[in-house]
Amino acid sequence: MGHDEAIARAAVLRPIAEIAARAGIPDDALEAYGRLKAKVSLEFVAKAATRPEGALVLVSGISPTPAGEGKTTTTIGLGDALNQLGTNTMICLREPSLGPCFGIKGGATGGGRAQVGPMDQINLHFTGDFHAITAAHNLLAAMLDNSLFWDNPLEIDPRRIRWRRVMDMNDRALRSIVNGLGGVSNGAPREDGFDITVASEVMAIFCLARDLDDLQERLGRIVVAERRDGTAVTARDLKADGAMAALLRDALAPNLVQTLEGSPALVHGGPFANIAHGCNSVIATRLGLNLADVVVTEAGFGADLGGEKFLDIKCRQAGLKPACSVIVATIRALKMHGGVAKDALGKPDVPAVLKGAANLLRHIENMRKFGLPVVVALNHFTSDTPEEVQALTDLLAPLGVTLVPCTHWADGAAGALELARAVLARIAEASADFAPIYADDLSLTAKIETVAREIYGAAGIDLTPAAQKRLAAITAAGFGHLPVCIAKTQYSFSADPTLLGAPAGHRLPVREVRLAAGAGFVVVLAGTIMTMPGLPRVPAAERIGLDEQGRIIGLF
Ligand code: ADP
Ligand code: MG
Repeated sequence: MGHDEAIARAAVLRPIAEIAARAGIPDDALEAYGRLKAKVSLEFVAKAATRPEGALVLVSGISPTPAGEGKTTTTIGLGDALNQLGTNTMICLREPSLGPCFGIKGGATGGGRAQVGPMDQINLHFTGDFHAITAAHNLLAAMLDNSLFWDNPLEIDPRRIRWRRVMDMNDRALRSIVNGLGGVSNGAPREDGFDITVASEVMAIFCLARDLDDLQERLGRIVVAERRDGTAVTARDLKADGAMAALLRDALAPNLVQTLEGSPALVHGGPFANIAHGCNSVIATRLGLNLADVVVTEAGFGADLGGEKFLDIKCRQAGLKPACSVIVATIRALKMHGGVAKDALGKPDVPAVLKGAANLLRHIENMRKFGLPVVVALNHFTSDTPEEVQALTDLLAPLGVTLVPCTHWADGAAGALELARAVLARIAEASADFAPIYADDLSLTAKIETVAREIYGAAGIDLTPAAQKRLAAITAAGFGHLPVCIAKTQYSFSADPTLLGAPAGHRLPVREVRLAAGAGFVVVLAGTIMTMPGLPRVPAAERIGLDEQGRIIGLF
């Protein structure tokens, strides 16, 4: 049994009603899913909406490396530490997807002494939200093919179908398929394929919807196909929006769980941070702000991807104003950005840390461009040396950035108290003056260019003729005011995953553009982005199983 697993196993979790009561959620607002999980009713969410809001803290990280950074772990550790200091704090996280769980990454409920639980349930079926989202997505796909079958009254061009199928699994064999085989009674064969559920526009909609009405409105706006003349066919045209909303109704109520130290955590929704915006639901974040003095929330991948989208898409759409940004870094990952190979990370190397810090510095500068004060959380690994930490501290001090080494993975809340104090100090200064990096009325092309130059450090963008045509068509159809959701590799500021550190002067190649009218953004594909991942040669699934007592093992 692994270290994290042993800690999770030994933890004693409180009945969820107790955690709810402490968070200010009354019993009659709870829909219990067993003893340790509950949904908070949407009636209560709506009632709480009139209360004053707490401060919003965004946790993101440097560009991810295979060395691991620990954003989720730090979000939980910081939340626990704030609660221990007496600040009423809610943690808001994404729900894990089964794909990474059985693939490379394992579970996504934190690690060490900074975890949310019950980790086995949260990592697997949880409260069924992803199943509901998968069903809603596939209902729309079924209704689309059904409409084609029954004489195609909407005059859908079968060559211009934009809606694929989804499931919550890494399965490369389903990326491209032919459906409708087997004769007249099965329809006409056409090319189709599967994406992973977290890449579904339904997932993005679920996470951006304000309430049930907004959810159905957005579902109705999904563009599923085009006619021969290029006009859009929507989910509303197919009359699918009502049934999809019905499938999603119960799921839209946010899920309450707890950390190992008893802090409340809302774990709700989980869109990809490339093709979608990479953070938990607006409903959960808003509820957290209405209940707590501080909400700590994580955005996926690096601050240039999940962080940028949290700010430019989620905060813009939901009118949220973050008070502080925490960037998670590790000595190990900075060494990788400084050119050290993964198997040599254990060796002390101050020059490599300083060289790799260029990546961190760019992310800090970026967050400041959004008007946010920055605290750097240095997630401590046992291989870190005092010299390496000191060198990094000295590098950041002249910039007025506090570097806070933290040991919440080893020590729980006690290891993140200094981080919590630094964050509280930034909140108290009230220096945040948040604004998205581009205005709504900028053209779509200019928006892409702004993110590329300001956030990625690129010299410019290169649009394929097809991408240019799509951008013009989307603008002509009245969607030019939407924000852009750029899907690029998470490993680099550039579109080339091997360019670590802080590359400059590169150009962002834009291959394809897709309208996500329901989610309310335009997806911009830079490089090849996988919307259906595959499993590695030795998937994590091989070590997952049950022990003699029927307990689940191997989820880390
Ligand atoms: P992220 O959210 O950035 O993807 P996680 O918080 O999920 O990262 O952490 C990834 C993995 O790294 C988890 O298995 C976690 O237990 C491990 N981890 C995080 N911090 C530490 C640490 N300080 N020491 C050792 N392992 C850690
Ligand atoms: Mg994470």
